Amino acid sequence: MSKYVVFYSTACIFMSVTMTLSNGNKIELPAELQGKDTFEGDMKLTADQFTKIEERIEAQKHRIETRKAYAILSTRWEDAIVPYRIEPESQGDTAVILSAIAHWESKTCIRFPQYDPAEHTSFISFTKQDGCWSYIGKVFTGAQEISIGIGCEHLGTIAHEIGHAIGFFHEQSRPDRDSYVIINEDNIIDGYEDNFQKYDTGTIDTHQVPYDIGSLMHYGERYFSKNGLNTIDAVNPADQSKMGQRDGLSDADILLANLMYKCPGVSGDPHMKTFDGRPYTFQGVCWYTLFKDCFYHKPDFEVAVKFEPRGDSTTDHFRTRAVAFNVSVGMEYANVNGLDVITGNKGHDTAARSIRVQKEQNVVILEFTSNNTTFTLEWALRKHALKVNVQGATYNGRLCGLMGNADGDTRNDFQTPDGNVVLDAAEFGESWEVKGQTCE
Ligand SMILES: [Zn+2]
Repeated sequence: MSKYVVFYSTACIFMSVTMTLSNGNKIELPAELQGKDTFEGDMKLTADQFTKIEERIEAQKHRIETRKAYAILSTRWEDAIVPYRIEPESQGDTAVILSAIAHWESKTCIRFPQYDPAEHTSFISFTKQDGCWSYIGKVFTGAQEISIGIGCEHLGTIAHEIGHAIGFFHEQSRPDRDSYVIINEDNIIDGYEDNFQKYDTGTIDTHQVPYDIGSLMHYGERYFSKNGLNTIDAVNPADQSKMGQRDGLSDADILLANLMYKCPGVSGDPHMKTFDGRPYTFQGVCWYTLFKDCFYHKPDFEVAVKFEPRGDSTTDHFRTRAVAFNVSVGMEYANVNGLDVITGNKGHDTAARSIRVQKEQNVVILEFTSNNTTFTLEWALRKHALKVNVQGATYNGRLCGLMGNADGDTRNDFQTPDGNVVLDAAEFGESWEVKGQTCE
């Protein structure tokens, strides 16, 4: 940014400063874009990251298809622990920095202990330099600076910078961004076009979390604008106002962070995963609908699962596990309790369906086919793990229950029986309790 003169306006303008372009035009610039020697406004790159990103950009400019697989550029903090230290010049911002840290801790399993040289080798060091900026992921041993400059002292802005420090890139750099936003090159300050590059999947691992225009990591609509017009427009105009929010982490941000750091909340016990791969933890007890055909009033099939508290469960740390499951297909049923399997028929069965049962040591495999779609349930008693595999697309979007509706869109996974999507995993899970079932 050295080719432009940056003024701090005397009046305290919320999160922005006035910048004068070389042609004399004055523009407002968010505090995030003030950092010196930064990339995309507020990201600092190591020499290695910079080289790799430059190579990617060059390849894209010249439409060179490179087959070279790049390692994901940002590295994680070990055990999801990010020690921090607030440097003397940032002491005045302690309260707001701590509230941003608390925000991250309340939504993810990432923990931010105060740096203790006896315990930690690396830490993020909050300083007050020009603008707000951070490195991407854990890149140094020892201190790794994160700047909360003048105008950056807001929960959302600090939480955004912490997002970079744990390994987040900007949302609009995602490989799939063109389906959601339009970049208006004509409105970008000359020479700053590279700030709007998108990366390939080798650089950014989205963990299959859907693109979120309301992400805390998304640019605002006029970032790097030379004329006050939008540099980014939403493909769906209804999404325009969500862009650039700095209130806090979005659901997609939270999910992504929890996936990146393998948080227990998403890999806990019992391990729940929807058909579309959205992981979550559910701690309900008794019987729940795992999945069923929801298209017809009378389902073609239905699978229910029973959860019990684990032996090592405490009130502070409540954990459950799957102990039994029931499958019914048409008139046929199979009840599996531990390794005991009881199969039967509720009456006259005319449908040409059958539940196939296979036992191998400590594993029970049930398989049934309905409308050319085959469901396989693999039950490993030792781990209390129930794996479900589906082959065939007949029931895509037609299923419901704890495993979601299998429509390929993780945003719809948490649908309750009345068709509403809830954001809370516990509320979602409870909505699928099988009524009238008794559990001791
Ligand atoms: Zn940023």
